[in-house]
Amino acid sequence: MKAIHLLPLGGPGPDLVDALPGPLRQAFRIRVETHAFGLDPEQFFDAGRGQYNSTRLLMHLKSHYAALQQEPGICTLAIVPFDLFIPILTYVFGEAEVGGNVAVVSYHRLAPERYGLPPDNPLLLARFVKEVVHELGHVFSLIHCSVQSCVMHSSSYVEDIDLKEGSFCRACAAELALRS
Ligand SMILES: [Zn+2]
Ligand SMILES: [Zn+2]
Repeated sequence: MKAIHLLPLGGPGPDLVDALPGPLRQAFRIRVETHAFGLDPEQFFDAGRGQYNSTRLLMHLKSHYAALQQEPGICTLAIVPFDLFIPILTYVFGEAEVGGNVAVVSYHRLAPERYGLPPDNPLLLARFVKEVVHELGHVFSLIHCSVQSCVMHSSSYVEDIDLKEGSFCRACAAELALRS
């Protein structure tokens, strides 16, 4: 991979996008750019669930953005405000194509206010950055890690995100170095 393209969809606050390049450059040692991408999210809305189909969004991203890049080695990350699901789960914080070139992260469930707690922007940003590094780790072929502090540890609830670090454990870092 040569670069990560960040595609903010649906107008996330600039601080969310601004929080990413530093940690992503450090984690993956590649270029990070923000690009615009027009997309109507309603095509991914599932009326029965009241949520957005994460896998369909990923596939759309792959064919309508990633496949059109002239430069090889581009990894595409969509950032969305709406609630994502995959059919077997109640919700997901994000999804990625393992060993592929597309990923998506939603910040819908990351804000403390959602859980009746006071707003905490640093906490929201920390959770968001961890989830983005996690999904991009999948793009770089990393799978879930049993080390609880590792960013590749699977998170079902926001509390799980808070328990892990934003960085890779030694084994995942070694695996990533092989893949990069
Ligand atoms: Zn994962
Ligand atoms: Zn690990």
